[in-house]
Amino acid sequence: MFEVIAFDADDTLWHNESIFTMTQIKFSEMLSSHGQEVVDQTLFATQIKNLQHFGYGIKGFILSMIETAIELTDGEVRGHEIQQILDFGREMLAAPIELLPHVREVVEELSQKYSLLLITKGDLIDQETKIARSGLAEFFDAVEIVSDKTTEVYSKILKRHKIKPSHFMMIGNSMRSDIVPIVQIGAQAVHVPYLSTWEHEQDHPPVDAEHYTELKHLGLLPQLIKKKG
Ligand SMILES: [Mg+2]
Repeated sequence: MFEVIAFDADDTLWHNESIFTMTQIKFSEMLSSHGQEVVDQTLFATQIKNLQHFGYGIKGFILSMIETAIELTDGEVRGHEIQQILDFGREMLAAPIELLPHVREVVEELSQKYSLLLITKGDLIDQETKIARSGLAEFFDAVEIVSDKTTEVYSKILKRHKIKPSHFMMIGNSMRSDIVPIVQIGAQAVHVPYLSTWEHEQDHPPVDAEHYTELKHLGLLPQLIKKKG
């Protein structure tokens, strides 16, 4: 029997990766003389290197774009170009929240019967304002904004909310963040893939397909829960 159902936010409840992808296209156009592939590869390597210092989210992404521009131009990048990168970041932070199909109905329906948690990585202010703007805040009993999604982080959340892993289900788009650690702590995981996945989130330890469920879209979730619950 499930008692608590938790949702990831970015690319599970609303579009997010597409905003990063669009910004990255504008960024590589800005540095096009270095070749798109070189720009993309340098930015990715810089982001991964910086994750441990800046964490996930738009602010870290902005800093990594600036660092990439400095590196590729051998320090010749101009002030107005750095301003442009900062403006890309501001646009990202102001981007409207676009819910994915079925999200509102499903979250509303499940909230009537279950305790719902929202567990997300990213910048604190950005995630808080996105949740507020999404119109979904009232359906969640608690929101957890974490710096990473590891087995330790999930175990602590479950302990704090006094939830047994066997009574817990997590739904998300990332195998690395939402599925593998949940399977490892013995809870139920439901993978709902997004249109595209950031390279870093594709990198994860192997997990047996029989230990989690994959759904094409969130609209199929209530039926699955009825069957399992
Ligand atoms: Mg996600």
